[in-house]
Amino acid sequence: MTGPARLVLATHNAHKLGELRAILVPALPGLDPDSVVGARDVGAPEPVEDGVTFAENALIKARALAAHTGLPAVADDSGLSVDVLGGAPGIFSARWSGRHGDDRANLDLLLAQLSDIAPEHRAARFTCAAALVTPDGEEHVELGHLVGTLATAPRGEHGFGYDPILVPAGGDLTCAELAPEEKNRISHRGHAFRALVPAVVAVLGREPRG
Ligand code: IMP
Repeated sequence: MTGPARLVLATHNAHKLGELRAILVPALPGLDPDSVVGARDVGAPEPVEDGVTFAENALIKARALAAHTGLPAVADDSGLSVDVLGGAPGIFSARWSGRHGDDRANLDLLLAQLSDIAPEHRAARFTCAAALVTPDGEEHVELGHLVGTLATAPRGEHGFGYDPILVPAGGDLTCAELAPEEKNRISHRGHAFRALVPAVVAVLGREPRG
């Protein structure tokens, strides 16, 4: 790290850390990219995510990290909501198959559950809640969505999670077939984090620079 950490991102997932840095750093001129660190870099424990909405879980993670580090903390919680399943997997997206973080098993189970569902009934969306919490207790949350339909088989090599089966509305490619920059431009995470930027700018503007 070239400078002191000024903003800490509550993810242990290297892929998501990269996506979040790619969204936040260009939006925050003057911020040293190396001063945006991940939860693993600061040895932060992972809190129990016992909220029942994306927003609650994002706040739980950001509060825990701000308390652990004494730095402004940004967290997200996200997942896939399928209309015909009443919004599931939702907050259970990362462990739908019963094994937390087993992306392939989660995706395979979901495809099997929807195997008889016709294309016109396969509407789904990614949702992201992005939260900012400061050590003195200021809190902000923004939501973003990426609406689309579910393919019947996985396609594409990019991304993670359910990317190979979510086809964003207005196109034919799955999120895993899109270039990463294109996905960031339209993604739920991009929308939520860009909406959070003004609050991050305001908070960092008040932080002493190291
Ligand atoms: P989180 O890490 O608790 O936010 O869990 C998010 C889970 O939702 C991931 O494990 C993925 O299964 C799914 N998910 C969230 N965002 C995305 C995305 O951008 N692409 C694919 N899957 C996603």
